[in-house]
Amino acid sequence: MDLRWETLLTETRATHARVPALQEFCALPEPVVEQPVTPHHIPAADLMIHDPNLHSNAFADFRDALINAAPLAQWRETYKGTGASADFLNRFACYEIIGIDAPFGATDIRAFVVYQPAGFHYPWHHHPAEEIYMVVAGEAEFHLEGENPQTLRPGDTAFHPSNAPHALITRDHPVMAYVLWRGDLNTKPVFTYPEDLS
Ligand code: FE
Repeated sequence: MDLRWETLLTETRATHARVPALQEFCALPEPVVEQPVTPHHIPAADLMIHDPNLHSNAFADFRDALINAAPLAQWRETYKGTGASADFLNRFACYEIIGIDAPFGATDIRAFVVYQPAGFHYPWHHHPAEEIYMVVAGEAEFHLEGENPQTLRPGDTAFHPSNAPHALITRDHPVMAYVLWRGDLNTKPVFTYPEDLS
């Protein structure tokens, strides 16, 4: 297996070891089964790879491992054909690290990296899977319906209950986040208020 994937798995495990909220959310598979993935590139991946403002002190090694593995990744197109704007599709980036379709197999969790550049609005969406976000680099405003928004920085986490609408806004900074799912892993997210997307 490509050393860049091996390094990413090592850094992912190291991050779990350091962040209790991640450990409480789920354990990582042990041992982990390696699976071939066919690389699939999207333009937004280049924004993440070349973003000079993904600042992180505590999680710089994890950030770098996520960037270094990016050319090998099967970048997802979760929102293609859903009414998402071209701007959204061109600037929102996500690939799976551990899970059903990932280089490291798991059937009970999914682990992703999500990136959005500065000045980006990820509209209200929801999914049956329970979810935790941990900011790896940069910062973003996390919105959970019914709660006050929170600005999260590297090491901070946000939990999203099953089917609870949530949204993400970046202003002056981009964000790179590590995202875990448990529960219903096969139902894709949907926009909560599709009528508001245009
Ligand atoms: Fe979500």
